[in-house]
Amino acid sequence: MTIKTRFAPSPTGSLHIGGVRTALYSWLHARHNNGSFVLRIEDTDLERSTDEATDIILKCMDWLGLDYDEGPYYQTQRSKRYQDVIEELLETDNAYYCYCTKDEVENMRKEAMKRGEKPKYNGYWRNKKRIPKSTEKPVVRFKNPLDGEVVLDDLVQGKVVFNNEELDDLIIARADGSATYNLSVIVDDMDMKITDVIRGDDHLNNTPRQINILKSLKANIPNYAHIPMILDSDGKKLSKRNSNASILTYRDEGYIPEALLNYLIRLGWSKGDQEIFSIKEMISDFDIKKVNKSSSSLNIKKLRWLNQQYMKDINISKAVKFLTEFFDMKNVSIKDGPSLEELIEFQKDRVHTLTELAEKSVFFYSDFDEYDNKLAAKHLIAEVLEPMSKFCQSLEELNDWESIKIKNIFESTINQYEIDFGMLAQPVRVAITGTGISPSIDQTLYLLGKAKSLVRLHRAIDHIKNNTAS
Ligand code: GLU
Repeated sequence: MTIKTRFAPSPTGSLHIGGVRTALYSWLHARHNNGSFVLRIEDTDLERSTDEATDIILKCMDWLGLDYDEGPYYQTQRSKRYQDVIEELLETDNAYYCYCTKDEVENMRKEAMKRGEKPKYNGYWRNKKRIPKSTEKPVVRFKNPLDGEVVLDDLVQGKVVFNNEELDDLIIARADGSATYNLSVIVDDMDMKITDVIRGDDHLNNTPRQINILKSLKANIPNYAHIPMILDSDGKKLSKRNSNASILTYRDEGYIPEALLNYLIRLGWSKGDQEIFSIKEMISDFDIKKVNKSSSSLNIKKLRWLNQQYMKDINISKAVKFLTEFFDMKNVSIKDGPSLEELIEFQKDRVHTLTELAEKSVFFYSDFDEYDNKLAAKHLIAEVLEPMSKFCQSLEELNDWESIKIKNIFESTINQYEIDFGMLAQPVRVAITGTGISPSIDQTLYLLGKAKSLVRLHRAIDHIKNNTAS
Protein backbone atom coordinates (compact mmCIF):
# COMPACT_ATOMS: atom_id res chain seq x y z
CA MET A 1 0.00 0.00 0.00
CA THR A 2 1.24 3.50 -0.77
CA ILE A 3 2.15 5.38 2.37
CA LYS A 4 0.28 8.62 2.89
CA THR A 5 1.08 10.99 5.74
CA ARG A 6 -0.15 14.40 6.74
CA PHE A 7 0.79 17.46 8.72
CA ALA A 8 -2.25 18.93 10.43
CA PRO A 9 -1.37 22.13 12.28
CA SER A 10 -3.92 24.32 14.03
CA PRO A 11 -3.35 27.94 12.98
CA THR A 12 -3.63 29.32 16.48
CA GLY A 13 -0.24 30.97 16.90
CA SER A 14 3.14 31.08 15.35
CA LEU A 15 4.32 27.78 13.87
CA HIS A 16 6.15 25.96 16.65
CA ILE A 17 9.55 24.37 16.16
CA GLY A 18 8.11 21.11 17.54
CA GLY A 19 5.40 21.29 14.89
CA VAL A 20 8.02 21.74 12.22
CA ARG A 21 9.82 18.62 13.35
CA THR A 22 6.50 16.74 13.18
CA ALA A 23 6.03 18.09 9.66
CA LEU A 24 9.56 17.06 8.72
CA TYR A 25 9.19 13.52 10.03
CA SER A 26 5.84 13.12 8.25
CA TRP A 27 7.30 14.50 5.04
CA LEU A 28 10.39 12.29 5.27
CA HIS A 29 8.36 9.19 6.04
CA ALA A 30 6.28 9.83 2.92
CA ARG A 31 9.25 10.68 0.72
CA HIS A 32 11.33 7.73 2.01
CA ASN A 33 8.53 5.36 1.05
CA ASN A 34 7.67 7.03 -2.26
CA GLY A 35 4.37 7.91 -0.69
CA SER A 36 2.49 11.17 -0.54
CA PHE A 37 2.20 13.98 1.94
CA VAL A 38 -0.87 16.06 2.76
CA LEU A 39 -1.13 19.47 4.40
CA ARG A 40 -4.29 20.07 6.36
CA ILE A 41 -5.06 23.24 8.24
CA GLU A 42 -7.12 22.44 11.33
CA ASP A 43 -8.86 25.77 11.67
CA THR A 44 -12.06 24.71 13.40
CA ASP A 45 -11.30 26.63 16.58
CA LEU A 46 -12.75 29.85 15.19
CA GLU A 47 -11.87 31.94 18.21
CA ARG A 48 -8.18 31.10 18.21
CA SER A 49 -7.46 30.45 14.53
CA THR A 50 -6.20 33.37 12.47
CA ASP A 51 -5.53 33.92 8.78
CA GLU A 52 -2.15 35.31 9.75
CA ALA A 53 -1.15 32.04 11.45
CA THR A 54 -2.31 30.09 8.39
CA ASP A 55 -0.26 32.36 6.18
CA ILE A 56 2.83 31.77 8.34
CA ILE A 57 2.35 27.99 8.12
CA LEU A 58 2.10 28.11 4.32
CA LYS A 59 5.08 30.44 3.94
CA CYS A 60 7.23 28.41 6.32
CA MET A 61 6.42 25.13 4.58
CA ASP A 62 7.53 26.78 1.38
CA TRP A 63 10.65 28.30 2.98
CA LEU A 64 11.60 24.91 4.43
CA GLY A 65 10.99 23.13 1.13
CA LEU A 66 8.47 20.74 2.69
CA ASP A 67 6.32 20.35 -0.40
CA TYR A 68 2.97 18.64 -0.20
CA ASP A 69 1.19 16.52 -2.77
CA GLU A 70 -2.29 17.40 -1.59
CA GLY A 71 -3.78 20.37 0.15
CA PRO A 72 -3.78 22.66 1.86
CA TYR A 73 -7.16 21.37 2.97
CA TYR A 74 -9.09 23.52 5.42
CA GLN A 75 -11.31 21.91 8.01
CA THR A 76 -13.63 24.92 8.00
CA GLN A 77 -14.52 23.99 4.43
CA ARG A 78 -15.46 20.45 5.38
CA SER A 79 -18.07 20.99 8.08
CA LYS A 80 -20.89 19.56 5.97
CA ARG A 81 -18.97 16.29 5.70
CA TYR A 82 -18.46 16.18 9.49
CA GLN A 83 -22.21 16.72 10.00
CA ASP A 84 -22.93 13.79 7.70
CA VAL A 85 -20.64 11.50 9.67
CA ILE A 86 -22.18 12.62 12.96
CA GLU A 87 -25.60 11.78 11.47
CA GLU A 88 -24.31 8.39 10.38
CA LEU A 89 -22.98 7.64 13.86
CA LEU A 90 -26.35 8.62 15.38
CA GLU A 91 -28.23 6.46 12.89
CA THR A 92 -26.04 3.42 13.48
CA ASP A 93 -26.45 3.85 17.23
CA ASN A 94 -22.79 4.62 17.73
CA ALA A 95 -23.60 8.06 19.07
CA TYR A 96 -26.37 9.73 21.06
CA TYR A 97 -27.68 13.10 22.15
CA CYS A 98 -26.74 14.17 25.63
CA TYR A 99 -28.79 16.86 27.37
CA CYS A 100 -26.72 17.21 30.52
CA THR A 101 -25.67 20.67 31.58
CA LYS A 102 -22.03 21.46 32.25
CA ASP A 103 -22.71 21.46 35.99
CA GLU A 104 -24.31 18.05 35.83
CA VAL A 105 -21.33 16.62 34.03
CA GLU A 106 -19.01 18.29 36.51
CA ASN A 107 -20.89 16.62 39.37
CA MET A 108 -20.62 13.22 37.68
CA ARG A 109 -16.90 13.69 37.44
CA LYS A 110 -16.66 14.63 41.10
CA GLU A 111 -18.74 11.61 42.10
CA ALA A 112 -16.42 9.31 40.12
CA MET A 113 -13.40 10.81 41.87
CA LYS A 114 -15.03 10.25 45.25
CA ARG A 115 -15.36 6.59 44.36
CA GLY A 116 -11.65 6.55 43.55
CA GLU A 117 -12.32 6.28 39.80
CA LYS A 118 -11.11 8.45 36.92
CA PRO A 119 -13.33 11.54 36.52
CA LYS A 120 -15.71 10.93 33.64
CA TYR A 121 -19.19 11.38 32.26
CA ASN A 122 -21.36 8.53 33.53
CA GLY A 123 -23.25 7.71 30.33
CA TYR A 124 -26.60 8.96 31.63
CA TRP A 125 -28.11 9.55 28.15
CA ARG A 126 -26.30 6.65 26.50
CA ASN A 127 -29.31 4.43 26.01
CA LYS A 128 -32.18 6.92 26.20
CA LYS A 129 -32.47 7.55 22.47
CA ARG A 130 -34.26 10.86 22.78
CA ILE A 131 -34.58 13.00 19.66
CA PRO A 132 -34.15 16.72 20.51
CA LYS A 133 -37.07 19.13 20.27
CA SER A 134 -36.46 22.17 18.10
CA THR A 135 -35.73 24.29 21.16
CA GLU A 136 -33.16 21.91 22.59
CA LYS A 137 -29.48 22.04 21.83
CA PRO A 138 -27.88 18.85 23.09
CA VAL A 139 -24.33 17.78 22.39
CA VAL A 140 -23.65 14.48 20.61
CA ARG A 141 -21.51 11.88 22.34
CA PHE A 142 -19.79 8.88 20.87
CA LYS A 143 -20.67 5.49 22.38
CA ASN A 144 -17.28 4.32 23.41
CA PRO A 145 -17.11 0.54 24.01
CA LEU A 146 -17.64 -0.17 27.69
CA ASP A 147 -15.10 -2.91 27.99
CA GLY A 148 -12.17 -4.44 26.19
CA GLU A 149 -9.06 -2.57 25.28
CA VAL A 150 -7.43 -0.65 22.48
CA VAL A 151 -4.00 -1.95 21.67
CA LEU A 152 -1.85 0.54 19.84
CA ASP A 153 1.36 -0.59 18.16
CA ASP A 154 2.87 2.83 17.95
CA LEU A 155 5.78 3.15 15.52
CA VAL A 156 7.70 5.20 18.07
CA GLN A 157 6.19 4.47 21.47
CA GLY A 158 5.86 0.71 20.95
CA LYS A 159 2.88 -1.16 22.34
CA VAL A 160 0.47 1.00 24.35
CA VAL A 161 -2.69 -0.52 25.84
CA PHE A 162 -5.74 1.53 26.81
CA ASN A 163 -8.71 0.15 28.76
CA ASN A 164 -12.01 1.21 27.30
CA GLU A 165 -13.40 1.38 30.80
CA GLU A 166 -11.27 4.43 31.41
CA LEU A 167 -12.45 6.31 28.34
CA ASP A 168 -15.71 8.19 28.55
CA ASP A 169 -18.23 8.92 25.84
CA LEU A 170 -16.55 11.87 24.27
CA ILE A 171 -18.41 14.75 22.71
CA ILE A 172 -18.23 14.65 18.92
CA ALA A 173 -20.62 17.54 18.19
CA ARG A 174 -20.95 20.66 20.30
CA ALA A 175 -24.31 22.18 21.24
CA ASP A 176 -24.07 24.46 18.19
CA GLY A 177 -23.72 21.37 15.99
CA SER A 178 -20.05 21.90 15.14
CA ALA A 179 -17.75 18.89 15.12
CA THR A 180 -15.07 18.57 17.79
CA TYR A 181 -11.39 17.96 17.17
CA ASN A 182 -11.46 14.16 17.55
CA LEU A 183 -14.34 13.78 15.11
CA SER A 184 -13.01 16.08 12.39
CA VAL A 185 -9.55 14.52 12.59
CA ILE A 186 -10.77 10.99 12.07
CA VAL A 187 -13.12 11.98 9.26
CA ASP A 188 -10.24 13.70 7.51
CA ASP A 189 -7.76 10.91 8.12
CA MET A 190 -10.34 8.46 6.80
CA ASP A 191 -11.41 10.50 3.74
CA MET A 192 -7.87 11.52 2.88
CA LYS A 193 -6.78 7.90 3.15
CA ILE A 194 -3.99 8.65 5.55
CA THR A 195 -2.05 5.45 6.24
CA ASP A 196 0.43 6.82 8.80
CA VAL A 197 -0.41 9.46 11.36
CA ILE A 198 2.72 11.09 12.75
CA ARG A 199 2.08 13.67 15.44
CA GLY A 200 3.18 14.97 18.83
CA ASP A 201 2.82 12.66 21.82
CA ASP A 202 0.50 15.21 23.42
CA HIS A 203 -2.14 13.52 21.23
CA LEU A 204 -1.44 10.00 22.48
CA ASN A 205 -4.49 10.01 24.74
CA ASN A 206 -6.75 10.96 21.85
CA THR A 207 -5.65 8.00 19.80
CA PRO A 208 -7.70 5.18 21.44
CA ARG A 209 -10.80 7.37 21.14
CA GLN A 210 -10.08 8.07 17.49
CA ILE A 211 -9.45 4.39 16.82
CA ASN A 212 -12.78 3.48 18.41
CA ILE A 213 -14.66 5.98 16.24
CA LEU A 214 -12.86 4.75 13.13
CA LYS A 215 -13.80 1.18 14.03
CA SER A 216 -17.44 2.09 14.43
CA LEU A 217 -17.31 3.59 10.93
CA LYS A 218 -15.64 0.41 9.68
CA ALA A 219 -12.77 2.51 8.43
CA ASN A 220 -9.16 1.46 8.16
CA ILE A 221 -7.05 2.17 11.20
CA PRO A 222 -3.86 4.02 10.23
CA ASN A 223 -0.46 3.40 11.76
CA TYR A 224 0.42 5.89 14.44
CA ALA A 225 3.73 7.41 15.46
CA HIS A 226 3.67 9.75 18.44
CA ILE A 227 6.85 11.74 18.66
CA PRO A 228 8.05 13.33 21.88
CA MET A 229 8.01 17.01 22.65
CA ILE A 230 10.96 19.31 22.20
CA LEU A 231 12.12 20.76 25.49
CA ASP A 232 13.95 24.00 26.11
CA SER A 233 17.59 24.03 27.18
CA ASP A 234 16.52 23.65 30.83
CA GLY A 235 14.61 20.49 30.05
CA LYS A 236 11.22 22.19 30.44
CA LYS A 237 8.41 22.15 27.92
CA LEU A 238 9.21 24.75 25.27
CA SER A 239 6.64 27.43 26.00
CA LYS A 240 5.08 29.31 23.12
CA ARG A 241 6.35 32.54 24.65
CA ASN A 242 9.96 31.43 24.31
CA SER A 243 11.15 33.12 21.12
CA ASN A 244 13.12 30.00 20.21
CA ALA A 245 9.80 28.18 19.92
CA SER A 246 8.67 30.06 16.85
CA ILE A 247 9.94 29.06 13.45
CA LEU A 248 9.85 32.70 12.34
CA THR A 249 12.71 33.49 14.71
CA TYR A 250 14.98 31.21 12.72
CA ARG A 251 13.84 32.51 9.37
CA ASP A 252 14.30 36.12 10.44
CA GLU A 253 17.72 35.46 11.96
CA GLY A 254 18.97 34.12 8.70
CA TYR A 255 19.18 30.42 9.39
CA ILE A 256 19.38 28.22 6.34
CA PRO A 257 16.30 26.02 6.02
CA GLU A 258 18.30 22.90 5.17
CA ALA A 259 20.44 23.44 8.28
CA LEU A 260 17.37 23.81 10.44
CA LEU A 261 15.89 20.62 8.99
CA ASN A 262 19.23 18.88 9.51
CA TYR A 263 19.19 20.02 13.13
CA LEU A 264 15.60 18.91 13.63
CA ILE A 265 16.04 15.48 12.08
CA ARG A 266 18.89 14.83 14.51
CA LEU A 267 16.79 15.98 17.44
CA GLY A 268 15.29 12.61 18.18
CA TRP A 269 16.75 10.49 15.39
CA SER A 270 20.30 9.56 14.51
CA LYS A 271 22.45 7.42 12.28
CA GLY A 272 25.70 6.61 14.00
CA ASP A 273 27.68 9.77 14.67
CA GLN A 274 26.77 11.46 11.41
CA GLU A 275 25.95 15.12 12.03
CA ILE A 276 25.39 16.47 8.55
CA PHE A 277 22.71 15.10 6.27
CA SER A 278 21.78 16.44 2.88
CA ILE A 279 18.07 16.41 2.13
CA LYS A 280 18.71 13.44 -0.15
CA GLU A 281 20.40 11.54 2.67
CA MET A 282 17.64 12.47 5.08
CA ILE A 283 15.10 10.96 2.70
CA SER A 284 17.07 7.81 2.06
CA ASP A 285 18.15 7.21 5.68
CA PHE A 286 15.21 8.32 7.80
CA ASP A 287 13.39 5.57 9.61
CA ILE A 288 10.42 6.58 11.75
CA LYS A 289 10.82 3.42 13.83
CA LYS A 290 14.20 4.64 15.00
CA VAL A 291 12.90 7.90 16.43
CA ASN A 292 13.68 8.26 20.13
CA LYS A 293 10.91 7.77 22.63
CA SER A 294 12.33 10.31 25.04
CA SER A 295 12.18 14.07 24.58
CA SER A 296 15.11 16.08 23.33
CA SER A 297 16.23 19.53 24.39
CA LEU A 298 16.78 22.40 22.04
CA ASN A 299 20.44 23.36 21.86
CA ILE A 300 20.85 26.65 20.04
CA LYS A 301 24.63 26.45 20.15
CA LYS A 302 24.51 23.18 18.24
CA LEU A 303 22.07 24.62 15.75
CA ARG A 304 24.34 27.65 15.22
CA TRP A 305 27.29 25.34 14.66
CA LEU A 306 25.34 23.35 12.10
CA ASN A 307 24.16 26.49 10.35
CA GLN A 308 27.75 27.66 10.17
CA GLN A 309 28.64 24.49 8.26
CA TYR A 310 25.84 25.21 5.80
CA MET A 311 26.88 28.87 5.47
CA LYS A 312 29.99 27.76 3.63
CA ASP A 313 27.90 26.46 0.72
CA ILE A 314 25.13 28.98 0.95
CA ASN A 315 22.96 29.61 -2.08
CA ILE A 316 24.24 33.03 -3.13
CA SER A 317 21.08 34.35 -4.72
CA LYS A 318 18.96 33.44 -1.69
CA ALA A 319 21.54 35.08 0.57
CA VAL A 320 21.55 38.21 -1.60
CA LYS A 321 17.79 38.42 -1.27
CA PHE A 322 17.97 38.06 2.51
CA LEU A 323 20.71 40.69 2.87
CA THR A 324 18.98 43.12 0.54
CA GLU A 325 15.86 42.95 2.72
CA PHE A 326 17.89 43.12 5.92
CA PHE A 327 19.87 46.22 4.92
CA ASP A 328 16.74 47.82 3.57
CA MET A 329 14.98 47.30 6.86
CA LYS A 330 17.92 48.83 8.73
CA ASN A 331 18.11 51.74 6.28
CA VAL A 332 21.62 50.83 5.25
CA SER A 333 22.27 51.84 1.66
CA ILE A 334 24.44 49.30 -0.11
CA LYS A 335 25.06 51.54 -3.12
CA ASP A 336 28.59 52.59 -2.17
CA GLY A 337 30.20 49.42 -1.07
CA PRO A 338 31.12 45.93 -2.14
CA SER A 339 28.54 43.96 -4.08
CA LEU A 340 26.52 41.62 -1.91
CA GLU A 341 27.90 38.65 -3.84
CA GLU A 342 31.44 39.75 -2.99
CA LEU A 343 30.48 40.38 0.61
CA ILE A 344 28.91 36.93 1.00
CA GLU A 345 31.95 35.21 -0.48
CA PHE A 346 34.13 37.18 1.90
CA GLN A 347 32.18 36.64 5.13
CA LYS A 348 30.35 33.32 4.75
CA ASP A 349 33.07 31.18 6.31
CA ARG A 350 33.31 33.35 9.39
CA VAL A 351 29.73 33.63 10.60
CA HIS A 352 26.98 31.42 11.95
CA THR A 353 23.95 33.04 10.36
CA LEU A 354 23.02 35.53 7.67
CA THR A 355 21.97 38.05 10.29
CA GLU A 356 25.39 37.83 11.87
CA LEU A 357 26.94 38.27 8.43
CA ALA A 358 24.84 41.38 7.83
CA GLU A 359 25.47 42.90 11.24
CA LYS A 360 29.20 42.38 10.98
CA SER A 361 29.25 43.99 7.55
CA VAL A 362 27.36 47.22 8.09
CA PHE A 363 30.66 49.11 8.36
CA PHE A 364 31.40 48.40 4.71
CA TYR A 365 28.42 50.52 3.72
CA SER A 366 27.83 53.11 6.42
CA ASP A 367 30.23 55.35 8.23
CA PHE A 368 30.00 55.04 11.96
CA ASP A 369 29.59 58.10 14.16
CA GLU A 370 31.80 57.16 17.04
CA TYR A 371 34.52 54.76 18.02
CA ASP A 372 33.97 52.27 20.76
CA ASN A 373 35.34 54.45 23.57
CA LYS A 374 37.30 51.82 25.39
CA LEU A 375 38.87 50.46 22.24
CA ALA A 376 39.79 53.90 20.98
CA ALA A 377 41.41 54.74 24.32
CA LYS A 378 43.36 51.51 24.18
CA HIS A 379 44.44 51.45 20.56
CA LEU A 380 44.30 54.94 19.07
CA ILE A 381 47.29 56.15 21.05
CA ALA A 382 50.36 58.30 20.47
CA GLU A 383 52.66 55.32 19.83
CA VAL A 384 50.77 54.28 16.73
CA LEU A 385 50.67 57.72 15.18
CA GLU A 386 53.83 57.27 13.18
CA PRO A 387 53.34 53.70 11.90
CA MET A 388 49.71 54.43 11.12
CA SER A 389 50.56 57.60 9.21
CA LYS A 390 53.22 55.77 7.27
CA PHE A 391 50.85 52.89 6.51
CA CYS A 392 48.23 55.36 5.34
CA GLN A 393 50.69 57.24 3.16
CA SER A 394 51.93 54.04 1.50
CA LEU A 395 48.37 53.00 0.79
CA GLU A 396 47.70 56.38 -0.76
CA GLU A 397 50.55 55.76 -3.14
CA LEU A 398 49.32 52.32 -4.06
CA ASN A 399 47.91 52.18 -7.57
CA ASP A 400 46.57 48.64 -7.69
CA TRP A 401 44.23 48.19 -4.77
CA GLU A 402 44.85 44.49 -4.27
CA SER A 403 44.72 42.46 -1.11
CA ILE A 404 48.23 41.09 -1.50
CA LYS A 405 49.71 44.54 -2.04
CA ILE A 406 47.92 45.90 1.00
CA LYS A 407 49.29 42.98 2.96
CA ASN A 408 52.83 43.71 1.81
CA ILE A 409 52.55 47.33 2.84
CA PHE A 410 51.20 46.32 6.21
CA GLU A 411 54.09 43.94 6.77
CA SER A 412 56.76 46.33 5.66
CA THR A 413 55.32 48.99 8.00
CA ILE A 414 55.46 46.78 11.08
CA ASN A 415 58.95 45.64 10.10
CA GLN A 416 60.13 49.18 9.63
CA TYR A 417 58.89 50.24 13.06
CA GLU A 418 59.77 46.93 14.66
CA ILE A 419 56.35 46.53 16.20
CA ASP A 420 54.09 43.51 16.70
CA PHE A 421 51.36 42.66 14.27
CA GLY A 422 48.61 43.58 16.75
CA MET A 423 50.19 46.92 17.55
CA LEU A 424 49.15 48.15 14.10
CA ALA A 425 46.34 45.73 13.25
CA GLN A 426 44.14 46.65 16.19
CA PRO A 427 44.31 50.42 15.68
CA VAL A 428 43.57 49.90 11.98
CA ARG A 429 40.57 47.75 12.87
CA VAL A 430 39.21 50.40 15.21
CA ALA A 431 39.90 53.02 12.52
CA ILE A 432 37.93 51.28 9.83
CA THR A 433 35.16 49.50 11.71
CA GLY A 434 34.78 51.57 14.87
CA THR A 435 35.06 48.31 16.79
CA GLY A 436 37.82 45.79 17.34
CA ILE A 437 36.37 43.09 15.13
CA SER A 438 36.99 42.52 11.48
CA PRO A 439 38.32 39.78 9.25
CA SER A 440 41.90 40.06 8.04
CA ILE A 441 43.05 43.65 7.64
CA ASP A 442 44.23 43.42 4.05
CA GLN A 443 41.05 41.81 2.82
CA THR A 444 38.84 44.14 4.79
CA LEU A 445 40.60 47.21 3.41
CA TYR A 446 40.49 45.74 -0.06
CA LEU A 447 36.76 45.21 0.12
CA LEU A 448 36.11 48.57 1.73
CA GLY A 449 37.87 50.24 -1.20
CA LYS A 450 40.68 52.73 -1.32
CA ALA A 451 38.73 55.95 -0.89
CA LYS A 452 36.76 54.87 2.17
CA SER A 453 39.77 53.20 3.75
CA LEU A 454 41.86 56.35 3.47
CA VAL A 455 39.13 58.61 4.83
CA ARG A 456 38.74 56.38 7.87
CA LEU A 457 42.47 56.04 8.46
CA HIS A 458 42.90 59.81 8.27
CA ARG A 459 40.04 60.29 10.65
CA ALA A 460 41.73 57.95 13.16
CA ILE A 461 45.04 59.76 12.74
CA ASP A 462 43.28 63.06 13.48
CA HIS A 463 41.62 61.46 16.46
CA ILE A 464 45.01 60.40 17.83
CA LYS A 465 46.44 63.85 17.25
CA ASN A 466 43.54 65.61 18.92
CA ASN A 467 43.48 63.31 21.89
CA THR A 468 47.17 63.25 22.54
CA ALA A 469 48.02 66.87 21.81
CA SER A 470 49.45 68.37 24.94
N1 GLU B 1 -4.23 20.02 14.89
C1 GLU B 1 -3.53 19.28 15.89
C2 GLU B 1 -2.43 20.16 16.50
O1 GLU B 1 -2.03 21.13 15.91
C3 GLU B 1 -2.87 18.05 15.35
C4 GLU B 1 -3.82 16.95 15.16
C5 GLU B 1 -3.23 15.68 14.66
O2 GLU B 1 -2.07 15.69 14.19
O3 GLU B 1 -3.93 14.70 14.71
O4 GLU B 1 -1.99 19.85 17.58
